[in-house]
Amino acid sequence: MTGEPNRKIIHIDMDAFFASVEQRDDPALRGRPVAVGHAAARGVVAAASYEARTFGVRSAMPSSTALRKCPNLLFVRPRFEVYKQVSAQIRAIFADYTPLVEPLSLDEAYLDVTENNWGEVLGMNVAKRIKQEIRAATGLTASAGVAPNNAPSRQTRRRNIVTVRLTESQSFGSFGSNTTQFVPCRIDSST
Ligand SMILES: [Mg+2]
Repeated sequence: MTGEPNRKIIHIDMDAFFASVEQRDDPALRGRPVAVGHAAARGVVAAASYEARTFGVRSAMPSSTALRKCPNLLFVRPRFEVYKQVSAQIRAIFADYTPLVEPLSLDEAYLDVTENNWGEVLGMNVAKRIKQEIRAATGLTASAGVAPNNAPSRQTRRRNIVTVRLTESQSFGSFGSNTTQFVPCRIDSST
């Protein structure tokens, strides 16, 4: 998975992974600021829910700092066995589409879908279908970015856009010709 210009690489990353699993499994945590980790003096936040992030709580932050920023923060003990099970589920979904998977962590991976098992031409469509399958299998949301090599894919995902090569993008409208450029397209956030 190097930077060859014609490879289609998807970067997939589960949203607020540990915290989302906890909110999925305990309805009392939904809509509330949740930190996975230990509230103890030397504790560290392993993951923060989106509600907690609006208060400035971030992963790797000392729990004491997190509590100062968000006094109502709910700490939940990590359940790594559950996270590993979910990770195995999403990796099984990836393996349905391509053998070329490069896991970066439990919830994050690069997939080379240049020759995916569907024969799908648009990397963006592969990304959308994988997101839908992850949602159906786990009840959780993933973000995805598509690009011809690893690094741009990750950057574009962080801006919540998909980039596709010009040749792919022409089905979305007309663009200039023969220019190597990326065309940003928003991923439908409901998928
Ligand atoms: Mg993640």
